[in-house]
Amino acid sequence: MKESRYFKIQELVCPEVYRRYGEQAWMFIDPELIETLDMIREKIICKPMIVNNWNTGGSYTQRGLRCNICQLVKSKTNIDRLYLSAHNFGKAVDATIQGMSAEEARQLIIKNQILLPYPIRLEDGVSWLHLDVYDADKGKVYLFRV
Ligand SMILES: [Zn+2]
Repeated sequence: MKESRYFKIQELVCPEVYRRYGEQAWMFIDPELIETLDMIREKIICKPMIVNNWNTGGSYTQRGLRCNICQLVKSKTNIDRLYLSAHNFGKAVDATIQGMSAEEARQLIIKNQILLPYPIRLEDGVSWLHLDVYDADKGKVYLFRV
């Protein structure tokens, strides 16, 4: 199983998944996302990136993999609404960076896109850094809006 050099599994999955699977939960995280995250953390952002922090007493639980009973997913299911977020498939994170705005982070990633091992999507116009490895076939970095 591929694991990250910078992130613990607790930072990338919700508490429900960690309680049930522990370290085995790495199997739910797309290896392309792990490689991309490590590259961005090490060579592009070069600062700590906060995804989930429930494990250290924070309130973020749904910023990495979202399971079927995570509130964001469950609420869509309850109203029969389709919800195919990359978060559902272990292909996305929402992150905040210490000492850097999400917009600065997006610009830095765009500027250094040659370093990215896979095509990524970034959500534009939001105050957090959403990055995922869905391949929209629109170049190395595709900026999308929900
Ligand atoms: Zn969950």
